[in-house]
Amino acid sequence: MSNHLFDQFRTAMPGSGPEGVLIETPDGPVLSYDGMLDMSGRLANLLVEEGVEPGDRVAVQVEKSVEALLLYLACVRAGAAFLPLNPAYTDVELEYFLQDAEPKLVVTDPGRVKGVVDLAYAVKATLLTLGTDGQGSLMAGAAEQVPEFEDVARGPDDLAAILYTSGTTGRSKGAMLSHENLASNARVLVEAWRFTPDDVLIHALPIFHTHGLFVATNTVLSAGASMLFLPRFDAAAVVRAMGRGTVMMGVPTYYVRLLQEPGLTREAAAGMRLFVSGSAPLLAETHRVFQERTGHAILERYGMTETNMNTSNPYDGPRIPGTVGPALPGVELRIVDQESGRPVRDGEIGMIEVKGPNVFKGYWRMPEKTKAEFREDGFFITGDLGLIDGHGHVQIVGRGKDLVISGGFNVYPKEVEAELDRLDGVIESAVIGVPHPDFGEGVVAVLAVEEDHKLTEDVVIAALAQRLARYKLPKRVRFVAELPRNTMGKVQKNRLREDYKSLFSA
Ligand code: AMP
Repeated sequence: MSNHLFDQFRTAMPGSGPEGVLIETPDGPVLSYDGMLDMSGRLANLLVEEGVEPGDRVAVQVEKSVEALLLYLACVRAGAAFLPLNPAYTDVELEYFLQDAEPKLVVTDPGRVKGVVDLAYAVKATLLTLGTDGQGSLMAGAAEQVPEFEDVARGPDDLAAILYTSGTTGRSKGAMLSHENLASNARVLVEAWRFTPDDVLIHALPIFHTHGLFVATNTVLSAGASMLFLPRFDAAAVVRAMGRGTVMMGVPTYYVRLLQEPGLTREAAAGMRLFVSGSAPLLAETHRVFQERTGHAILERYGMTETNMNTSNPYDGPRIPGTVGPALPGVELRIVDQESGRPVRDGEIGMIEVKGPNVFKGYWRMPEKTKAEFREDGFFITGDLGLIDGHGHVQIVGRGKDLVISGGFNVYPKEVEAELDRLDGVIESAVIGVPHPDFGEGVVAVLAVEEDHKLTEDVVIAALAQRLARYKLPKRVRFVAELPRNTMGKVQKNRLREDYKSLFSA
């Protein structure tokens, strides 16, 4: 047997020489494909020496670096399950993940050893360190190893990674992703987005999340392409990178910030062939202004940790703002009535469900939760509400748990937000439901506004009353400088609901 995922990367590898660059930085090439084989081989040998066996978890909480990416590849080659964690998690949060996943090995930043050492010891894990410049015991240990490594045999259904969901309700869950979940999605994206070995992806995303780790990296590796690695998103640095890059992947916030960058011009983006957005909704307005400024229509796609990518706007053909396109090849997608589970008609809102080789194997050690989120015919209940429009494109109207039920009527936040975003002085908006003594939930609008705005609560409600049914109107409006967001650019509505939970109880 072969190593299913890594074999796919091997097959796509370009030859040696200048065309064989895998990673470059603004200062020049830093890792060739040959170097990747060499270093991931050494790291894989080290994993084996540390007692990591096929199926064992390797928990990694470090800053973004080339070495961290090599560690991911070493885990795949050694048959381990790579378990990346957001470096922003505190030691208290880390304890939960380590207790739950019981990794054989924990890799942390040298500066965090003091807090992590007891947590690793408690789960009998070995602790190694990796800093942003490759310092620490991990790379020191790898340097002692030989580069030759025989990839551990892994089949399509074997575990390749566990990614914990962001857990906005309750405990975060470990999504188990198999070799074929990752390999199949990367193959589909290479085709759908026309990746070739000549592509240079501008990589400014974090690598502890599905977007920067799998969508970006696995696609590049499955095309034999290369990446321009940036430590973090910085609008000016990304604009400069456009001189070298051909493709960029980002969350909507990146595109909003790029638009604030004077250097973003048609000329600056002339060498680029594709801009992809996902992980949160891209405002139609951002799409429009970006196209005016650069001549590029951002391609929006939709996916999640559990399913990899499900839909994408077309590469050729209209990329329709406010939609995430049709299902990708091999992915089945349907919209069903949340209660009965029966498919609804096109144009009607319901729960988005998906099935295909991209869909994960279940939640780590949570068989009950896993069972509850799959239908009997194998479809995964995404938790996202949406509809299929007249073009066959999916439109997402929001998370099911963000739906507001006021006086027995369903209020879809996105519909109200779209109206709010049109108002002069509004930068963006979030509509939430909070407990209300009469209506069950009351609709609240939280608006991020420009400094010199002239809006008041009454003005906002009066403007919306012209356009929306009464039950959808916000009962209260709150003004803020910025909406709270997580690192992937998602608005944290759970935080807003918490902040405003007593608004109607006084
Ligand atoms: P994550 O597991 O962190 O990648 O989050 C997945 C969730 O992000 C999905 O279930 C959606 O709610 C949301 N999401 C991802 N892509 C989009 C998109 N293009 N438009 C709207 N929401 C999106």
